[in-house]
Amino acid sequence: MARRKQLPEDWESIVRRGVAYWNVLDEHERQQLAELAEFIIAAKRWEAANGFVLTDDVVVTIAMEAAVLILGLDASYFGKVTTIIVHPTTFSIPGPHATEIMGMVDAGPRPLLGEAHHDRGPMLLAWDQVRYAARHRGRGRNVVWHEFAHKVDMLDGVVDGTPPMQDRQMLDRWIDVCTTELELLRSGQGGHVLDPYAATDPGEFFAVATETFFDLPLVMRSEKPELYDVLSNFYRQDPASREPAPASSETQ
Ligand SMILES: [Zn+2]
Repeated sequence: MARRKQLPEDWESIVRRGVAYWNVLDEHERQQLAELAEFIIAAKRWEAANGFVLTDDVVVTIAMEAAVLILGLDASYFGKVTTIIVHPTTFSIPGPHATEIMGMVDAGPRPLLGEAHHDRGPMLLAWDQVRYAARHRGRGRNVVWHEFAHKVDMLDGVVDGTPPMQDRQMLDRWIDVCTTELELLRSGQGGHVLDPYAATDPGEFFAVATETFFDLPLVMRSEKPELYDVLSNFYRQDPASREPAPASSETQ
């Protein structure tokens, strides 16, 4: 697969049509997003699987979505992203796997929307899932944000739900808050804002929390203010501030 160098000419119409998050960004953020996306397109290797064809739509949508995560950081946070392999739809990998019900192991092939292989291994994404999530916000689900969050987590060599953080106080608070929230989820008292899959392990907790942080920021900020706050400090973004104010009928 040939490497691509830059955004295609019609990138803006692709984004306006297919990336709903574009609508909540201001002009400065849009410019940053486009620059980061262009870097992701040029610096990463893109491949298609299962007879799929990589169109500009596919590459631009994935790169723009991924760039949202690092709008407050920089492209070095995607240092472990090497190859992005796009499947047309959910794919399966043989072998036993943990299900969303804790402790259960299902022996069948696992249907996957995405997967981030360890260290500099490839990332796999199912295009139909990517496209749906990019167009429909507010469900707390976004496979691109989930898998790229795993890659950010891997930056320090371990998938432990704690991405690299220089500031010791920030790190201590991160560990405190995330450990408490993971324990609450595991004891059935974690509320409903996070998908139950977050209880799988600390790595999945971070990936799911990231999806929720960007896709349901107002709900997360009101139900999990501490978690919202540590994520906001790490990502250096306040996605709740980008959301339209709630309808006036809800205020008293
Ligand atoms: Zn995951």
